[in-house]
Amino acid sequence: KVRVRFAPSPTGGLHLGGVRTVLFNYLFARHHNGTFVLRIEDTDQTRYVPGAEEYILECLRWCGLSPDEGTEAGGEYGPYRQSERKAIYRQYAEQLVAQGHAYYAFDTPEELERMRENFKTPENPSPQYNVKMRHHMRNSHSLPPEEVRSLLAAGTPHVIRINTPASEDLTFTDMIRGEVSFNTSAVDDKVLLKADGMPTYHLAVVVDDYRMQITHAFRGEEWLPSAPVHILLWKYLGWEPHMPQWAHLPLILKPDGNGKLSKRDGDRLGFPVYAMNWTDPKTGEITRGFRERGFLPEAFVNMLALLGWNDGSGQEIFSMKELIDRFSMDRVHKGGARFDFDKAKWFNHEYILNTGNDKLAALFAPVLEEKAIVADPAYVATVAGLVKDRCYFVNDIWEHGFFFFEAPTQYDEAAVKPKWNDAKQQFFEAWNIMLADQSDFHAEALEESFKALANEKNIKMGELQLPFRIMLTSGKFGPPVFVIAATIGREQTIARIAKALE
Ligand code: GLU
Repeated sequence: KVRVRFAPSPTGGLHLGGVRTVLFNYLFARHHNGTFVLRIEDTDQTRYVPGAEEYILECLRWCGLSPDEGTEAGGEYGPYRQSERKAIYRQYAEQLVAQGHAYYAFDTPEELERMRENFKTPENPSPQYNVKMRHHMRNSHSLPPEEVRSLLAAGTPHVIRINTPASEDLTFTDMIRGEVSFNTSAVDDKVLLKADGMPTYHLAVVVDDYRMQITHAFRGEEWLPSAPVHILLWKYLGWEPHMPQWAHLPLILKPDGNGKLSKRDGDRLGFPVYAMNWTDPKTGEITRGFRERGFLPEAFVNMLALLGWNDGSGQEIFSMKELIDRFSMDRVHKGGARFDFDKAKWFNHEYILNTGNDKLAALFAPVLEEKAIVADPAYVATVAGLVKDRCYFVNDIWEHGFFFFEAPTQYDEAAVKPKWNDAKQQFFEAWNIMLADQSDFHAEALEESFKALANEKNIKMGELQLPFRIMLTSGKFGPPVFVIAATIGREQTIARIAKALE
């Protein structure tokens, strides 16, 4: 039975790459009728940021990617927050020490700092704590066993480090990349258990993937260099047959393809990089999110699915059900996926076109509320239907339809003035009187009457429609002018013409 997990560290807002990891987990789980687990990896207290965990949960809710098991959903493999599992990890670290696969190290932060300084060379600017270095440091390799015992007995702060073999080839099969090999000579003796008794990510991720019976583990490509440490742990703990199948997901790249898309690129280029607005609790700095930018969650999710995956057919718009049916890891690309904000907007536009007008009206309601405009929801829905083909975002309904909600106060005079004359003035005065008696106020009937009056006054329709439009909207934009008149209604149309003629 397929069991996958999303295992974020609550260190801040969720980058769109993180949401894509969630999505691929979710799609894979659903496709295989499996279970999607959410595990909070909060063992690094120094990086813990209050509010980040709640933010992550809210993101998953907004995207409709809710976990089957996790901190909120519960489940039989809990607790799902690593800090609450602290007692579990030490036994495994001690077991590794007993087997000779790990060792105690007593170096103080100052000693570690001195090591980095003293052993630094131009060829090796950041020396590692590894097989060569061990013997220069204070640990079970360099100290006599009695001394190690007495240091432990005295409660001396210590960590447990993995005993990385000097040179061993390790290989695993990544679901996206195929066979990946490492030699352990490039791997340092990572800390497994910290002085505060908390496991590091490396120990916790292996212990929990094992104990939570995870079958497939998907994570960002940036975790690939950690894979050899994890493979060693799976082996040394005797769990190798249960090691999940891994897939390291391609990076999401800057629009120009030059490196990983960062939070700063979003600020620089004016688009969101996080799923939702994130406020840094320390600095109060806000990083903008797709939700607040006006993305519909369905469009956001569809866009993310196509960042690094496609089904080979050229189709780009997929319902969630279609994504679940068609998703497969072997169609995820190895190379990074370039992020294109215009494309993201295109997805949102497509979803707006396919969203019912009532729903659009409901989504647009906060904008009207903020402007203290009271409007009948059915009326707002009509407006949404009239302008949505021009909208990339729900909020664009305002830009393309504000005149449905408020009468113009100034006009694009340059568009009318030069050709204005008495004949036109008289036409609109007569038209406004006619409108008071116009029995059928639908667009077609209005156009008929308008045409009849234009004929009678011997003025070309084309000469009159633009002024009429500007009287109703203030400028050269909007849906067909008779549709606008019919929508705003008799009273508004008459009032707007009268005002413009003043
Ligand atoms: N806690 C890691 C992170 O923050 C998870 C990496 C993994 O999935 O193994 O991304």
